[in-house]
Amino acid sequence: MLRKNRLFTPGPTPILPAAQTAMASFSLHHRTADFRALFSRVLADMKEFIGTRNDVLVLASSGTGVMEGSVSNLTSPGDKVLVLTAGKFGERWCDLAKAFGCAVEVLSAPYGETFSLEDVRQKLTPEIRAVYLQATESSTGARHDVKGLARLVRAQGDNTLLVVDAITGLGTTHFDVDGWGIDVIIGGSQKALMIPPGLAYCAVSERAWARMETAKSPRYYFDFRKERKAAAKGESAFTPATSLFAALGAALDFVRQMGNGDLVAGREALINNAELAAEMTRAGAAALGLKLFSPACPAAALTAIHAPAGIDSGAIVKEFRETFAAVVANGQGEMKGKLFRIAHLGFYDYLDTIGILAALELVLATVTGKPVEYGAAVRAAQEVYARTAAAHVMGAR
Ligand SMILES: *Cc1c(COP(=O)(O)O)cnc(C)c1O
Repeated sequence: MLRKNRLFTPGPTPILPAAQTAMASFSLHHRTADFRALFSRVLADMKEFIGTRNDVLVLASSGTGVMEGSVSNLTSPGDKVLVLTAGKFGERWCDLAKAFGCAVEVLSAPYGETFSLEDVRQKLTPEIRAVYLQATESSTGARHDVKGLARLVRAQGDNTLLVVDAITGLGTTHFDVDGWGIDVIIGGSQKALMIPPGLAYCAVSERAWARMETAKSPRYYFDFRKERKAAAKGESAFTPATSLFAALGAALDFVRQMGNGDLVAGREALINNAELAAEMTRAGAAALGLKLFSPACPAAALTAIHAPAGIDSGAIVKEFRETFAAVVANGQGEMKGKLFRIAHLGFYDYLDTIGILAALELVLATVTGKPVEYGAAVRAAQEVYARTAAAHVMGAR
């Protein structure tokens, strides 16, 4: 059959058509009143999308750029920081903090798992200047308990900052950023926001802005204070990724439409969409006898699934691509060959979810050479959908 190329990867994700159009026709210069209006509107909308009153920055870089800025702006060489890691992105925090000369304390959980709050409590000491973690560990499909972890960090007082890489968490998980006391929360354009890679964003608390006055690590492009000053005038310190701003504006309009004109309601609808697609995907995988990689704490952003015994997950990824032009992700690092990851953050709908599960049935039959009960994954997902839709209708009455 004809094959449409489709992404089921936890970044980049499928692009919203309206964002693509907005980008393609964009030609404003960035030091003009029209662009300043767009820039300021997007930053204001981003506060609602993130769910914060804190100042938001949007920078031209991949997500890692703002992760780096969250180390360089908030620490001085020799500062003790705590990294909570349970996967490849947690390990990135370790590498970044070491690169800037921090004394890095590490609390790790095995891949596919999350942290015991008691272990974290024991690691937290008053001299820890910042705690770095992920909301969703995209390499394992695990979701961490940001609310519980934030409560522990805040109990330390104002000396300890909390920095959350929510690059696949935002738009898939509910956060009360200000209520929980998250000092820096980080996102990226190529995840739930449905636009191409190239923008990274963050919301920064007053406590974190104050830290920057004394933090001594070197920084230049990712100098958050410089960006904040420029943003107050509707500009960025350097040339912004202008066409991506146009795309971001269109994406935020789309989310607002999902909430019938209310961006906050739209954000919640986007989160619920990812949650439902994730639940359908988990049910489908289970119906085929597949095991989840993070069964105890699965994320809404993506579902990581063990390859069946004796099968390299690379064969599954390859079969999806070659037969259906569907791009799913292999495991990263040591997890390569062991698991595959199906994303459902951002611009995914019911038909995408049902379609990838139907394809999974055929892919499994091919790679294992064993019979698969066709329709089993689809049926399980349908049941989840029907149950949720029925509950929704009753709730609305
Ligand atoms: C995608 C992602 C990142 C950022 O990666 P970049 O390639 O720099 O955009 C960081 N953390 C998590 C959890 C991610 O999913």
